[in-house]
Amino acid sequence: MRIHEFQARALLAGADIPTPDGEMVTTVDAAAEAAERLITDKPPVLVVKAQVHAGGRGKAGFVKVVNTVEEVREAATFMLGNRMVSPQTPPEGLVVDRLLIASGVDIEREIYLAIATDRGRRTNTLIASAEGGVEIEQVAEARPDAILKVPLHPLDGLSPFQARELAFKLGLKGRQVRQFTHVALRLADLFQETDASLAEINPLVVTPATPEDPDGQIVAIDAKFNFDDNALFRQQAIAELFDPSEEDPDEMRAKDAGLSFVALDGSIGCLVNGAGLAMSTMDIIKLHGGEPANFLDVGGDASQESVTEAFRIILGEDAVKGVLVNIFGGIMQCDRIARAIVSAAEEVGFEVPLVVRLEGTNVEKAREVLDSAGERLPTMRTATDLGDAARQICEAVA
Ligand code: GDP
Ligand code: MN
Repeated sequence: MRIHEFQARALLAGADIPTPDGEMVTTVDAAAEAAERLITDKPPVLVVKAQVHAGGRGKAGFVKVVNTVEEVREAATFMLGNRMVSPQTPPEGLVVDRLLIASGVDIEREIYLAIATDRGRRTNTLIASAEGGVEIEQVAEARPDAILKVPLHPLDGLSPFQARELAFKLGLKGRQVRQFTHVALRLADLFQETDASLAEINPLVVTPATPEDPDGQIVAIDAKFNFDDNALFRQQAIAELFDPSEEDPDEMRAKDAGLSFVALDGSIGCLVNGAGLAMSTMDIIKLHGGEPANFLDVGGDASQESVTEAFRIILGEDAVKGVLVNIFGGIMQCDRIARAIVSAAEEVGFEVPLVVRLEGTNVEKAREVLDSAGERLPTMRTATDLGDAARQICEAVA
């Protein structure tokens, strides 16, 4: 599960990691009011930031550093009125409904700091770079040695000596070392306490020296967290941060129906039971030159209604040019799937080719149900095995 930056900043603040004040708003007027509240003394620096579950906002023009309330209005009007397109969004971009209006900071240096689950090393790993900021992906690509990695002990987590050593490697000096060490240790604790799979601060900035702060201040000005969905049952406070508007609407519908569904870019809708069979179905579609439109595992004990909902979701997609049903009935009874096919045919209608391969529990009953549906399923063909099914559907959509 992912959360917004404004929520991530609240987590950081709660863990005593310095982050500037800010407010989440949804309208231009509210943005201006928040700006009024945030402007205190000195020449004001404010930042207006789109709150969407995608990065690359700075380069896309959806992070604006401004100095007046009027400029906040301008930036807010632009962001709420345009889709944000970045390498991390779909090509058509994302609608921006929420903004963060925050106090801005002057920047001396930008550092990258993250903790992530590293499957290769089978451990959580701290990742840092002296070259943080919006080019971090290019830095990682071009000069992997500029990315420092510190494995965390499975039980003890990050040790103070590891954090200090890292501070020196990053070229921090004086009071910056203690401040950085504090941030890294607190971030590691937060990662552990919240069952996160990623806790990233980019950039963690060093502000310029002032007479009061000769070494500047270390402040987090952007944060991103991902959480382990399987741990949400014991992370009530985190689960409450979930924002359904940032999720694919079809995936949300499927989740509500107890289905495991992932939308993909192809043209063949798939309805399968069992995650392994669903994956091999997708493989064999590709082998025959087709592209799956989705991954869908209806599971073992899905009701007829939830299977019908699965067909509604699949058939609701314009990109779907054909549907492949591949069921190996073990716990799942084939006739339940057959009845769902018929009710989907009655309700939505199969205008696209439908190839059905059923095997296993109650398969005879299922064939009877489908046979007696007759002309309600004019586009249906049956297949003898998975290879035959994939061949037929790929030919039908070609
Ligand atoms: P991202 O592009 O989605 O990762 O958004 P960030 O919040 O990381 O902002 C992108 C870049 O904008 C940062 O790397 C900074 O260079 C700049 N930026 C963001 N906030 C501020 C700020 O308060 N002051 C200044 N001077 N620059 C900022
Ligand atoms: Mn960032």
